[in-house]
Amino acid sequence: MNNIELLPQWFIIFYVILIGLCCGSFLNVVILRGLSGESLVFSRSKCPKCNSQLTWYMNIPLISYIFLKGKCAYCKEHISIQYPIIESLCAVLFCITYLTFGLTFKTLFLWVFLALFIAIATTDILKTVIIDIHTYILAIIGFIFNLFNFGYTEIQNSIIGAISGFLIMEFLAFLGTLFLKHRAFGEGDSLIVMSLGAIFGFKNLSIIIPLSIIIQAIFSLPVLAFEEFKNKNIKLCLSYIFVFLSLFIVGFLNLNSFNDNTKIYLSITIPLCIILLWSLKIILKDLKYKKITAQNSSETEKSAFKLLPFGPALILSATILFFYLDKIKELILNFIY
Ligand SMILES: [Zn+2]
Repeated sequence: MNNIELLPQWFIIFYVILIGLCCGSFLNVVILRGLSGESLVFSRSKCPKCNSQLTWYMNIPLISYIFLKGKCAYCKEHISIQYPIIESLCAVLFCITYLTFGLTFKTLFLWVFLALFIAIATTDILKTVIIDIHTYILAIIGFIFNLFNFGYTEIQNSIIGAISGFLIMEFLAFLGTLFLKHRAFGEGDSLIVMSLGAIFGFKNLSIIIPLSIIIQAIFSLPVLAFEEFKNKNIKLCLSYIFVFLSLFIVGFLNLNSFNDNTKIYLSITIPLCIILLWSLKIILKDLKYKKITAQNSSETEKSAFKLLPFGPALILSATILFFYLDKIKELILNFIY
């Protein structure tokens, strides 16, 4: 028996939380300096407002934020809530990983992946920017992960996954330019899928990409519906709500095997499809109209015509796969047969 296994569980969890908080604290620096282009080493942490150098006890993850009541000790400027959120998120994810996979090499790799996931999703949410180097590091560690067989696939599939992941997304973006006359998503999203291909291999991408589209829809459709509600465009608002609801209705119908009872199934599905198509028609018409007005207007108005970033949905989908890959595969098989 390993010595470390003799330690009480709470003791290990305490250390895992500490490691997570410290990694989260480092991630905050990675995110901030990644966005500002500053070098990661050779400069001590400063208050972004008054430039005062922070002493060690003002730099303790989470604890300092609580004791300083979220303000800089020198200038009393509010410290962004982003810091404690990322630190706690990192600690929670590290903890879940340890509790799922134990003290293994797999856990260690997942910690690195999850830390990079947080960095990528945060820069995308804050500034709709994906820093290329984050995705390259992710891909390289993904190759190593599969090379030593800790992972989800063999190294060949990992390499094929990375290359094909990037190409598939670039092809989808190209299709987007044909129909929308501009890229449907940024190049950063292709790089994320490349690195996810390296981690999960080619086959699992066929789960990640559709799952992330569903996640994106669940998060963005209510936002879009609310925007249209504020614009008093009720018809459009209802269309978004209906597309949103039909996602759940379709899922519910298939998971509860109503397909056995053809009459019930058809009497729900056929009207659903008709209203769904009608809603999509209204939404597409509106998108076309917004695009034309955006083309004839200033830069600031143009930037308003942008969908929510897709990166966080991809990241969330991959995070779910870390813990539920087998369950999801089972679910899909039930869904098909
Ligand atoms: Zn300050």
